Parts: sequence; C-alpha cells; structure tokens
Amino acid sequence: MQIDYNSLLLALGISTTCLALMLVGSWFSRRPETFLLILSAGLGFAVAGIFCYGAYVDTPRLIFAILTHVLYYIGFSTIWAAGYQYRMRRFSTARILLVSLAGSAASIPALLAGYDGLAFMVVNIVITVLLMLTAREYWLSRHEAPLPLNGIAALYALMAMSFALCAAILIWNGEFVLGHAPNNWAENVNLAICIAAAPGICALSLALHQWRRATYHRLEAITDPLTGLLNRRALFDLHRHHSFGPSMAVIVFDIDRFKAVNDQHGHATGDLVLKLFAEELSIGLRASDTVARLGGEEFAVVLDNTLSGPAEQIAERIRCAFAGREITVDGKSFACTVSVGIALGTVAGLGFDSVLSAADKALYAAKSKGRNRIEVAAHLHTVSPSGSRTAA
Ligand code: GH3
Ligand code: MG
Ligand code: MG
Repeated sequence: MQIDYNSLLLALGISTTCLALMLVGSWFSRRPETFLLILSAGLGFAVAGIFCYGAYVDTPRLIFAILTHVLYYIGFSTIWAAGYQYRMRRFSTARILLVSLAGSAASIPALLAGYDGLAFMVVNIVITVLLMLTAREYWLSRHEAPLPLNGIAALYALMAMSFALCAAILIWNGEFVLGHAPNNWAENVNLAICIAAAPGICALSLALHQWRRATYHRLEAITDPLTGLLNRRALFDLHRHHSFGPSMAVIVFDIDRFKAVNDQHGHATGDLVLKLFAEELSIGLRASDTVARLGGEEFAVVLDNTLSGPAEQIAERIRCAFAGREITVDGKSFACTVSVGIALGTVAGLGFDSVLSAADKALYAAKSKGRNRIEVAAHLHTVSPSGSRTAA
C-alpha cells in the first residue's frame, strides 16, 4: 500500500492533536505545573500549521503558505517557551512575540514577492534554532530526572536536525522560487522523524509531569508547612537507624512561654515567631546537619561530626540571636527566648531515640532551672543567659 505525503501529514496532525489534548488532561491533575499547558498550546499552533501546510501541498495558494509560516513561528516558539517554563518556572511571552514577529517579518514579504523557496528556507532554519533551544532547556534540567529529560532533549534535537536538512537541501538546490510546497527527500525524512518523535516527546513530557508530581507529594509528606523545615516523621526516617557516636549531637529547642505569646499577641503572631525561629535555626548550619520541627514550638537539630563544645557554641549562638531579636507586630515590640537541651552519642553508639530522649531530659532541666538557658545531658554543663558556663 502506498501512503502519500499528505495522508502522513494528516496523520501527524491528528495524532499530535490527541497527544496535546492528553497533556491538557494531565495538567488538570496538577495545575501549578503549567509547562504541559504551554506545550499543548504550542503543539496546537504547530498542528494548525501542519493542516495549513497540507492544504498548501494540495493547492499552493499564498494564504495557506502565509498561515503555515505564521502558525509554525507561534507554535515552535511556544514549545520553546514551555521548555523555558519547565526549567525556570517562568513564562516568557516576550520570546513567543519576538520570534513570531521577527519570523513573520522575514517570511511574509518573501512570500508576497514570490520568493516562496526563500521563505521556506527561513522557516526551516528558525524552527531548527527553536527546537535546539528547546532541547537545551530540557538538557540543562537533566539532573532532575536524567532519563526522561535526556530523552526529550535528544528527540527535540533529532527533529531540529531534520528541519535543518530541509533548509540545507533547499539552499543546496538554490530553490529560492518554487511556486509550490518544497518536494524533496529531506521533506520525507523530516515528516518520518516528526511522526516518530512527536509521540515520544509527549509521552516523556507526561512521565516528567508525573515524576514532578510524585516529588512534590514526597516533599509535602516530609515538610512542615508553616516553617518549611523537615517534620518529625522526616527526622525519624533520616536518623532512626543511625548509631550516634561521640561526634554526633542532638539539640532540642523549646520556645519559652509560647502559650503566653499566642494569648497576648494572637495565633498569627505566634506563627510568625515560629517562622522567625526556624530562620534562625537554619542560619550557619552545614548541609550535613538536620533541622526539623518536632511539633508545636519544639525544634531539633542533629549535628553530624561535631563535639560537645561546638554543639554548645551552636546552640548558644542560636539562643542569643533569638533572644536578641526584636519582633514587632502592629507597632508592638517584644522578644522571645528559647530553652535548649543537648545530648551526644557515646563511643559504643546510641540509637537516635535514646539521644533524643536524653536531649529532652536536658531541655526539661533547662526549663526547671529558669528557661533561656542550655543544658547538656551527658556532662551536664550549663550555659547561663550571660553566656558563662557552669557545671550543674
Ligand atoms: P514552656 O516555657 O514551659 O515551654 O511554656 P509554653 O507556653 O511554651 O509551653 P506550652 O506547652 O504550655 O504551650 C505551647 C503552646 O504552643 C500551646 C499551643 O497552643 C502553641 N502552639 C502549638 N503549635 C502551634 C502553632 O503551630 N502555631 C501557634 N501559633 N501556636 C502553636
Ligand atoms: Mg513545648
Ligand atoms: Mg514552650
């Protein structure tokens, strides 16, 4: 059975339309991820261009050629914008407008002057560049999900090469004036590659979307929504199976008289205090350290590779910085303090539960000794509000 070029073009248009609709359907499941929607819009314009091109192949009327070119410029620049949105999470209308206007400004006068071959060279070159730029966007994001992102980048690059081939053959043959659609072997190669690559790109884009959704849910499950720190579950998942040697420490913080903050200044101000304390905790800690909100106004820091002295210094820096922070809400200023308990692992190794519970006991000792102070469980050293250290 012989299938003609136009039937294949029609098949490409219909299958790409179905795929674009599928992408819109998936976008509904997680709307903040707009790259699928932008990609579908781009594919929609490109498909409209394909249908106009099909009409031009049948009946080479100027209007079909002009519509094909304009729709291709809008479509492929929007596909590029989708890639940019994926990587940067920012939509760029400027890119779409600039490419569409510049491309049309080059193609339309050439078509009107009868240099249709020249106009097709230009559109093929512009599409090549746009597809390469799109491939670059996904390639630059490849660390996120190497397999689908490298796959998408490769497919866009392959499509770009097939459009480059179309431009090259037209230039090679010096076909500046055609009077009909370009008709050479490169066009057939281009169509075959597009038929193979378009579903691949759509399928991988869907996989990418699902992958991002799963990552989002995973992060949501381990993050405290108010402070953005890890939650209790994440802290336990991370350290449950660790054996705490003497170079590992757990510091537990509890904001002093926090109930009174809520009662005097309102729950929203209480939330603000929690966020400010979370900020204070995150400053200056190393990537290997873990910061989490245990619940309510209790927080924990797990220090890796430290000793008693540095653990106390870190706790003291946080305690002082928080106590010295003036919190102003609705013109009223106040300050909060925090009590701290520290526990270290042992040479024989201790489970996380044991070290955390020792740090908790030290925290209660700090509370009962007047608050706004640090207690170290193992050696029972006390750091007073003035910063001087005394044996308990
Ligand atoms: P202490 O110095 O002994 O720790 O006293 P405290 O008032 O800080 O401790 P208490 O356990 O009596 O009160 C803790 C308060 O924290 C009670 C609860 O309403 C409040 N709280 C817990 N979670 C949140 C939250 O997410 N936001 C706000 N604003 N308040 C919270
Ligand atoms: Mg508490
Ligand atoms: Mg408290």
